[in-house]
Amino acid sequence: MNHIPLCLQYIGMNMENTIYKLMTPGPTQVAQNVRMARALSCTNPDSDETFFDFYRDTCELISTLLHTKNETLILSGEGILGLEAACASLTEPGDKVLVIDNGLYGNGFKDFVSLYGGIPTLYTKDYHETLDIDELAAYLAENHDFKYATVVHCDTPSGMLNDISRICPLLKKYGILTVVDSVSAMFGEYVNVDEFQIDILCGGSQKVVSAPAGLTFLNISSDAKAAMKARTTPIASFYANLTIFDGYYEKKWFPYTMPISDIYGLRAAFDNIKAEPDIVERHAKIAAHVREVLSKAGYTFYQNSGFSNTVTVINIPEGLTADSILDTCRKQYNIMLAGSFGEFAGKVVRIGHMGENARLELIDEVLEILCKLTRKK
Ligand SMILES: *Cc1c(COP(=O)(O)O)cnc(C)c1O
Repeated sequence: MNHIPLCLQYIGMNMENTIYKLMTPGPTQVAQNVRMARALSCTNPDSDETFFDFYRDTCELISTLLHTKNETLILSGEGILGLEAACASLTEPGDKVLVIDNGLYGNGFKDFVSLYGGIPTLYTKDYHETLDIDELAAYLAENHDFKYATVVHCDTPSGMLNDISRICPLLKKYGILTVVDSVSAMFGEYVNVDEFQIDILCGGSQKVVSAPAGLTFLNISSDAKAAMKARTTPIASFYANLTIFDGYYEKKWFPYTMPISDIYGLRAAFDNIKAEPDIVERHAKIAAHVREVLSKAGYTFYQNSGFSNTVTVINIPEGLTADSILDTCRKQYNIMLAGSFGEFAGKVVRIGHMGENARLELIDEVLEILCKLTRKK
């Protein structure tokens, strides 16, 4: 082990790969070409004009993969920064915001709204069920005085998938802008920004995209930009202010130094996605397979509806605990699954079948262990 830098020994890595097979719903496994891209030699991203082309080209690739010409920005900071930046940039003191809440991330948006002086109205529904669109339509018919609404595509702690293809156009009909958190869904679920009429779409590097944690990217509509321009009060943040990127390419001026190696890695990860037109199909097949095998083995799922292609959330069978399942996987098989947090802590185990995790040979290894655990009792 002497040739391995000390810092890597501490975090359980060798020079080839991670010891643990990550099967968590983010961070996910990182392909070799992404890791290699992060090792490329660096330039000065503030002074080297070619980096501005590379950055913009990468942003345009992301927009294309999301089926829109709306601008994408890559920010230095993981997924949470994206959610906060969307709320910080849109919210003026006193603005009314509809917070659609059928999961922990859904609920959490109320804090970002309040932090920037907005008045959140929680639309709270059963966490076991995907959002009922007809019910939402009936609610909106009576209550639609909102500047924007927050929607979570896949609420990862409970695996809840919401149908943003219907929710966003419905909100837009009332002139309500949408902030959509698709951090753990996009590219494992179909996302079409233009067709779904999404105003700000938030993504992260460490979920389906399968680059290491550290970057968020946002796709921003012209309506969202107009709302930021029309503000009469300043945005109460610098780092979470999306307008500080205005004209960056023409001015050759980033608001802060870009994390160049992270963006090289992200670009390689998006090139991988571009090279796989059937990526959503792969995720759908894997997810169906996971649910079928686990149901047959006697497992039940947290949800009644809204099963996502990217994460499966199982209840803990009698005689087992979340910790015993996680420990067995980690200690005996070097596989890392995830527990959950908030009200789900200790009650469920989550299998992340997203991005590089969503490979049949990896998933089958996990399923075999889980099936063995229920037979043993
Ligand atoms: C992972 C994730 C985020 C980003 O949060 P992290 O702190 O990176 O975990 C945001 N929203 C959802 C739904 C996520 O799954």
